[in-house]
Amino acid sequence: METQKELTAAQAVVRGLCPRCRTGQVFSGPAYGRKRQLMLETCPHCGLRYEREPGYFYVAMFVSYALIVAELVAACIAAYILFGNTENPWVYTGVALVVGVGLSPVNFRYSRLILLHWLTPGLSYEPELASKSSNPAAKP
Ligand SMILES: [Zn+2]
Repeated sequence: METQKELTAAQAVVRGLCPRCRTGQVFSGPAYGRKRQLMLETCPHCGLRYEREPGYFYVAMFVSYALIVAELVAACIAAYILFGNTENPWVYTGVALVVGVGLSPVNFRYSRLILLHWLTPGLSYEPELASKSSNPAAKP
């Protein structure tokens, strides 16, 4: 069995885990699926409150913006390679719509996870919390 202590920050982001204990989930439900994706208020393992202050996740919009720009540039380059030098603007419009709408659940999830893991000052991994049993009141 893999222990949670071995996870790097990047692995914790990919798996959607808490930035402090890297054990508890940040979201309930998958990015895609029948069940709605909801962000939990606190970590179910260590009790960390994810929204540090009101409006905290507005910063995630800028992370999401950077993600969608990178995705659109990559998708449009791929479309250029696949479809050749077409002058039909609907090719790129269609690609941009499919990529933008299709990846919006992923951008929502990972912009918040990137914000929590790498862009929040004073919030760091505490390995001793990963090994402790679940206790939400331990260190809110
Ligand atoms: Zn936690």
